[in-house]
Amino acid sequence: MKRRPLFLFLLVFLSSFLFPLFPFSPFPPCLAATPNIIDYQRHLPPTFKKQARLATRLIIIHDTESGLQSALNTLSKGGYSNYLIDRNGDIYRTLDKRYRADHAGLSMWDRVEDISSQSIGIELVGYYNDPYTNAQYASLSWLLKVLQKQYAIPDWRVLEHYRVAYGRPNAYVRKLHRGRRKDPGIFNFDRSRAGLTSTDPRNDALYDPDVAAGRLIPDPDINVASLKRRNPQKFQQEVAALSSNTITATNTAWRIAREEYDSPTTLYKFPDGRTRRGNQIKDWANIPAGTQVIVRAQEDATALQRVVLEITDGATALDRAGRAYRRPDTFYIFPKGTVRNGTQVKDWGQIPPGTKVLVGYQPPVPLTKSALRKQTTRAATQDRRTVFLVPTNRVVSADQVKNIAKLPAGTLMFVKK
Ligand SMILES: [Zn+2]
Repeated sequence: MKRRPLFLFLLVFLSSFLFPLFPFSPFPPCLAATPNIIDYQRHLPPTFKKQARLATRLIIIHDTESGLQSALNTLSKGGYSNYLIDRNGDIYRTLDKRYRADHAGLSMWDRVEDISSQSIGIELVGYYNDPYTNAQYASLSWLLKVLQKQYAIPDWRVLEHYRVAYGRPNAYVRKLHRGRRKDPGIFNFDRSRAGLTSTDPRNDALYDPDVAAGRLIPDPDINVASLKRRNPQKFQQEVAALSSNTITATNTAWRIAREEYDSPTTLYKFPDGRTRRGNQIKDWANIPAGTQVIVRAQEDATALQRVVLEITDGATALDRAGRAYRRPDTFYIFPKGTVRNGTQVKDWGQIPPGTKVLVGYQPPVPLTKSALRKQTTRAATQDRRTVFLVPTNRVVSADQVKNIAKLPAGTLMFVKK
């Protein structure tokens, strides 16, 4: 029976091909599938000068605060990132990893400034306060593994943008400070889902050598994040309070809008109904509680002014509805005529092309004869933003309908809020 050990070895060896997860397999388990990579560099302006980076010590993660198409347009204008990861996991190469992307702005990590000159920038399509998708985390993990290996970057030197960005003194914070940026989300971005699982104490989103050394004062949101382990209940309460865009004693304009608080694209709606832009406000100490702060108001306004938006091939709900895509007053009318609001959609990756999107609407009401006798209904039908879902599955706005009374039975009416 001398041959038995060899026979056993062969059995194990062969079985490792048949069962890649066989516990004694001499081979590692199958690697995850390679994500779809799309080279987008031809969209850079011809005048853009590619400059090789001298060092690559860090990788910085961002989010776009917009949908895919708007992000690709913005990033391509000036090489503002090396990669962009879409909600479906597709990776866009916006600027080859060798070149310096201008992505980190005013930044510092362990005394060293101008982080863009030493790092690769990766953008995630989405918002700092909205969960990223499983597909995005899978592609990000894959991309990080490749880059970390090539440049010998440990987990703790893969950093969120908010951790390296800093701000100069302003109306709210009188010293150099963290907190200029919020992306990709202090309460939202999950390092372990991105594969950053090292047990090195520096691989913790609370680690900040510049705050520890007194060079910068901390972001107040970091104090809230530190509650997560110590007092989970208080953590949830504080995060909920900070997720509102309404000014309170603690939720200041700066805390809501950060570096964009005094920008002309940030809109302030005061409790008395007046509105002002960020660059028109002088007295930051006396903004009344209850004022609403709308950051990048123009983008929201574009989504809100259009009456019926449509999801075309390659576009997502987020591309069309922006920040509002998951709201209860955003309605999706699927090609088969099914209606769902933003809280009822389960699979955002499966929205069929041709789906119509209504942003900022009241729940639909059946357009019955008795409803038409009501003054409020008649008034609503005069508003060009009112939309009808007519059997079978035709979506029309009020200005496309000659005679409302002749719309067939079973028509649903959507009235703008
Ligand atoms: Zn960023």
